[in-house]
Amino acid sequence: MKRYGGIEAGGTKFVCAVGSGPDNIHAEARFPTTTPEETISQAIAFLREEHRRAPLTAVGVASFGPLDPEPGSPTFGYITTTPKPHWGQTNLVGPLRQALGLPVGFDTDVNGAALGEHRWGAAQGLDTFVYLTIGTGLGGGGMVNGKLIHGLLHPEMGHMLVPHNWDADPYPGYCPYHGDCWEGLAAGPALEGRWKTRAENLPPTHPAWELEAHYLALGLMSIICILSPQRIILGGGVMEQRQLFPLVHNQVYTLLNGYIQAPQILENMDHYIAPPALGSRAGVLGAIALGMAVVGE
Ligand code: ADP
Ligand code: ZN
Repeated sequence: MKRYGGIEAGGTKFVCAVGSGPDNIHAEARFPTTTPEETISQAIAFLREEHRRAPLTAVGVASFGPLDPEPGSPTFGYITTTPKPHWGQTNLVGPLRQALGLPVGFDTDVNGAALGEHRWGAAQGLDTFVYLTIGTGLGGGGMVNGKLIHGLLHPEMGHMLVPHNWDADPYPGYCPYHGDCWEGLAAGPALEGRWKTRAENLPPTHPAWELEAHYLALGLMSIICILSPQRIILGGGVMEQRQLFPLVHNQVYTLLNGYIQAPQILENMDHYIAPPALGSRAGVLGAIALGMAVVGE
């Protein structure tokens, strides 16, 4: 059985694993995201040891961004303009290729998770769908017509602008570029900034969740109208609040106002906007799926 390495490169931690699917993970390790030198060498050391134990076929990296996923580009494999200290213009793929001598697949964390869900999870059999994470940031990826969405660079769904009623919600948003873009209003740090307590500590009945569902639904409405996804998967720490799902379903339903007539939306909203089937492992399994894809598996 072939073995693949996967790295879910996140802003707070790198999750590394070796295996070939959800039922077949041979090893796993986590390293805090500190400096590129330190964190990348820890990931390399883990994979090198695994490769020595039993050869790996390829490696996949699913990373926070913005990044360059274009194989022909001089900065392919780099995290590019991130505001995260130390990580701007960081070559992730180069050092891995050099240290391991293996093909390396590379994409955004959310495109990776989308590919994992397509292969093993909630997007099996679909050709057009979206995967969003609502966590430290808010990001979206997915497939259109069976291909991961790239385009010019890659989607930046979290930075779309959504209506913001300043009277009802005076919180200005936290995005360093746009203030009250979707991420600025609806990712985990926005909940903390608005309500002065970490999102995980807000009780399930707190009004924060109705407002959060309102913002999520506004962005989802645009995504539904633009991409016509067959399903939308919502992952990330904030979506651990399962009471958010029915609130989001109701608000999306209201916003669509009967305009889009599809049984998936009208009769099956629970499945249309749903959590990842791979749960919190969607990210690292997605990275393994990127490794498989780079060698045509
Ligand atoms: P990351 O985005 O860094 O990979 P997460 O997806 O866990 O990690 O996102 C972290 C953010 O999600 C933080 O803002 C945190 O407050 C929030 N968060 C984490 N767990 C929960 C939870 N169970 N309920 C609500 N918010 C959570
Ligand atoms: Zn923004």
